[in-house]
Amino acid sequence: MGYPIEPHDIQALRVFFISPKNRKVAKQPPSEGFGAVMWLMMGGDVGDLWSGAIARELGRRSDGARMDKPCGNGFIANKFKCGKNLSSGLHQKLIDAGQNVFKPYEKKMDAAQRDYKALESSIDRLKAGNGDIEALKEQWKEAKAKATQSMMPVEKIRDSLMRKSAVTEEEIDSFFSSLRITRNAKTTMKESELDEVGFSEAIEEAYRLSNGKLRPNLKVDSDDIGLASAAIDLRSRTMYVSDRLNREDVYHELGHLLEEDSPKVKDAAYEFLLARADSNKVSLSQFTGVKGHKNEKIYPDKFVDPYVGKVYSNKETEIISVGLQHFADSNSMVHLYAKDKEHFYLTLGALNANL
Ligand SMILES: [Zn+2]
Repeated sequence: MGYPIEPHDIQALRVFFISPKNRKVAKQPPSEGFGAVMWLMMGGDVGDLWSGAIARELGRRSDGARMDKPCGNGFIANKFKCGKNLSSGLHQKLIDAGQNVFKPYEKKMDAAQRDYKALESSIDRLKAGNGDIEALKEQWKEAKAKATQSMMPVEKIRDSLMRKSAVTEEEIDSFFSSLRITRNAKTTMKESELDEVGFSEAIEEAYRLSNGKLRPNLKVDSDDIGLASAAIDLRSRTMYVSDRLNREDVYHELGHLLEEDSPKVKDAAYEFLLARADSNKVSLSQFTGVKGHKNEKIYPDKFVDPYVGKVYSNKETEIISVGLQHFADSNSMVHLYAKDKEHFYLTLGALNANL
């Protein structure tokens, strides 16, 4: 993983390169001062061109206005004060916030993670089928019993995160009164493992977890959505459901809505994706060997699922959607925690932080 470059780093470079004084002394012979050396140390002419190109690209982002003067023009003079900003972007702040919220639960979660990993490796050994199968089965049973035991406190952790939500009953009522579920969607839901009651429960839980960051007015309809079990059209705020719908799908699609409804969450998720992206985009099919994703591009990384690295043209991501999806039940929660703690904390921070 490469060292993530924050917008502030680029801005700091631009402040240096566009200064008329720095440009002038850069042309002087080294014997006349350190100007030329300084210029070279900052990257020279190539650094000037490169940071200019990146700054223009960043300027096109929705938060471009905010990035104009992160430290004011006195960056060089204030570099110690501003240096703090250089190393911590918004995504890092949310990761820290998530970790903070989670501190009281870490020990129990670590125990669950240990038992979960032991169960996984016991399943792998069983699958490989090397050795005494009966003994392996016995080990698997033991590992499963242990993992089930340590999963119980995780269920309590989920409950307590929901109970600590700042959402009031009135807010929940008003969210639900603006929710429109078409008759077709209701019929489709009945055929799925998640009926209308289960669907409403999942919506309420995700709304509580998000601390009310989801804005009202959501329509739920059913339509041909190909192989997907659910989908969301953010422009019309319509969630499409299929008869394969489950709790994780509802959480996933609401994760997309959360990105849409909170620009800061969206920025943080995009920053997180870029911070993880140290190589070029590749096709999802090429990376996973699974056909059918020909036009989908991803940034490969050690994500919980390669799909998390998916790249959209409009800076939407699969970071919050896949993150929230893992909060649908305690098993998935431990799975994300075990595979990618940073992603877990970022999601929790995005849900919990007062943005
Ligand atoms: Zn998605």
